[in-house]
Amino acid sequence: MKRQFAVIGLGRFGGSVCCALIEQGMEVLAIDQDEARVNKYRDLVTHAVVADATDEQALKHLGIRNFEHVIIAIGDNIQASILTTLILDELGVEHITVKAQNDYHEKVLTKIGAERIVHPERDMGVRLAHHLLSKNVLDYLELSDKHSIIEIIASTKMSGKTLMKLDVRAKFGCNVMAIKRGREIIVSPQATQLIKEEDILIVIGADEDIKRFEHEMF
Ligand code: ATP
Ligand code: ATP
Ligand code: CA
Repeated sequence: MKRQFAVIGLGRFGGSVCCALIEQGMEVLAIDQDEARVNKYRDLVTHAVVADATDEQALKHLGIRNFEHVIIAIGDNIQASILTTLILDELGVEHITVKAQNDYHEKVLTKIGAERIVHPERDMGVRLAHHLLSKNVLDYLELSDKHSIIEIIASTKMSGKTLMKLDVRAKFGCNVMAIKRGREIIVSPQATQLIKEEDILIVIGADEDIKRFEHEMF
């Protein structure tokens, strides 16, 4: 059986979630109170309906409870986003992901038990900043407030040396989880693994350890 998703709010973010889910072969119910927005997605998604997500009866009517996962991508109307989250939670929707507009919004969503909160503008900003600050850093993923994963292009200092010789874990406390080399991916590289120029290293560790690693090796 196909997995069923509902996306509420068809702005750029919600719209792109719909497209990606459909591309992955999922069934998607798209909901927006704005008819023009709904029409824009009508031919793309499985079902598209005009409805106010803060109207509990309307949501019940759509059988929203039966959807495995509901994504709330309501933009600036924080009140509507919070109310919708509460209603879906009360109706017993199993998985709810909500897009937060700001830190205050995120705090409230956490308190009312949203399972997953995304903050795309902020998170993308942080990722871009890391990329801008170090030309070698391609991507950055925050795991907690103290731990991250970075994707970084190996420096000339590193090329031709093994992980053992560089002694990454012992010296810096971070681990190279994988190495991307063109189309190839070396997962869990051994100590004897040689680093080549243009290798992309995927490194996990505490932020301060990663910072030290970046400072001394790049
Ligand atoms: P982006 O910045 O990615 O475009 P956004 O989340 O800021 O996205 P908006 O353009 O604000 O996007 O879109 C949010 C959508 O949510 C709008 O299309 C709006 O009509 C819809 N929306 C707002 N309130 C409700 C509601 N109560 N019920 C259903 N849809 C709603
Ligand atoms: P450790 O002393 O860290 O337990 P180990 O006994 O696992 O090391 P090896 O696997 O032989 O020893 O690795 C020797 C050294 O090479 C490690 O101490 C570490 O600094 C480095 N190293 C090996 N593999 C990695 C990796 N995937 N990421 C980072 N450093 C590595
Ligand atoms: Ca916006």
